[in-house]
Amino acid sequence: MLTIGFARRFTSYKRADLIFLNLERLLKISEKGKIQIIYSGKAHPKDTPGKDIIKKIVEMTKTVNDNIKVIFLKNYCIELALKLVSGVDIWLNTPLRPREASGTSGMKAAHNGVINFSILDGWWIEGHIEGVTGWSIGPKPVESSLIPINDATDAEDLYYKLENLILPMYYHDRSQWIKVMKNSISKIAYYFNTNHMMRRYVTEAYLR
Ligand SMILES: *Cc1c(COP(=O)(O)O)cnc(C)c1O
Repeated sequence: MLTIGFARRFTSYKRADLIFLNLERLLKISEKGKIQIIYSGKAHPKDTPGKDIIKKIVEMTKTVNDNIKVIFLKNYCIELALKLVSGVDIWLNTPLRPREASGTSGMKAAHNGVINFSILDGWWIEGHIEGVTGWSIGPKPVESSLIPINDATDAEDLYYKLENLILPMYYHDRSQWIKVMKNSISKIAYYFNTNHMMRRYVTEAYLR
């Protein structure tokens, strides 16, 4: 079953619930191929909107049907993160641009051949080659991206690509799917890693 992972801090700008914006549409899409979504993550104790999103996701685990399963795993930690960023098919990130400074977990997923499906924000602006290393959600970033909310347009693009690109490839074109997994490793992991980062800090910042 196509398994989507979403795990990180729960805070409003990360919009963990964006995929449920039009539940009817999502249920319709899942008739084309079953989907399961695995969530995990903690909210800061004082972040009430963040905690409310967790509540909403937990509610979702009860409302969906046989074609789409949702689960929320508690106590997100490094051990659980290792299982998720290596064990799911798609790594979903839907932040409100331009708030995502980096989005480290997407790079961790790519190292494991997990395919990114994300808003063009943070590291993904550099790591993304459409249809080659994964898929974007929503428009390309421009300075006017500082516009307030774009939930509807972003969700629309998410649904479109899930239905017409991701599900068909996952269920009917296994060799192409594996190719994108390999591209994630070869075109992302070789560049987005700590060795490279440290070398650049040392040569371009510390030793200047
Ligand atoms: C990687 C990781 C994060 C950070 O995820 P982002 O995508 O950068 O928000 C948070 N918690 C755990 C346990 C992680 O392993």
